[in-house]
Amino acid sequence: MGCAASDVAAALRAAAATIAEHRVELTDLDRPIGDADHGENMNRGFAAVVSKLDEGVPETPGAVLKTAASTLISKVGGAAGPLYGTAFLRAATALGDKSELDAGDVAAALRAGLDGVVARGKAVVGDATMVDALSPAADAAEAARGDGIAALLRAAADAADEGAGSTVPLVARKGRASYLGERSVGHLDPGARSSALLLRALATAAGA
Ligand code: ADP
Ligand code: MG
Ligand code: MG
Repeated sequence: MGCAASDVAAALRAAAATIAEHRVELTDLDRPIGDADHGENMNRGFAAVVSKLDEGVPETPGAVLKTAASTLISKVGGAAGPLYGTAFLRAATALGDKSELDAGDVAAALRAGLDGVVARGKAVVGDATMVDALSPAADAAEAARGDGIAALLRAAADAADEGAGSTVPLVARKGRASYLGERSVGHLDPGARSSALLLRALATAAGA
């Protein structure tokens, strides 16, 4: 598949639809270990990204992601807004002004996005955050960079699903859930779940 700005915009619209569909689930995950707003936060942000794209699609994939980043930073709020915003911004920067992406670009963008989340939030794998989904996803994407964009994103989404699931038995060490200490054990992290959902939506949009 070619991956031009219009494809990235379509993938973000698919991501927004997935977040809307899973809004209640994400908020329910945030209830026992947080403040029951993750689904609302994410849905508000991604709906705003769609509105922004409706006004016009920027010319390059990087510019599309940069627009999404600033919208997410201003609309999502909470912990997740700045984290996802930084991820999209770093991904945009990694793509520069390329007009067409190949699989290597997508892998590099995922890695840059993860690095942005880590730089901003200081979480490591095992802290029961979105990093537990995004880090194995970035690794899987790099390993699959010879396979084309759709297969790469499918591998990343599979790894993110598994990584999100791995948060269940963990003690949360970052974010609101960490205030619960041992009582955070036994819960799927909402941000890890939203990261996995986003990657699955991107993979499906790419034809995986
Ligand atoms: P808030 O906790 O401010 O209400 P959200 O509920 O929207 O924000 O998002 C919570 C999610 O943010 C968590 O499930 C976790 O995945 C993620 N998160 C919180 N703090 C961090 C951090 N320091 N690093 C990485 N992810 C984090
Ligand atoms: Mg919350
Ligand atoms: Mg909140």
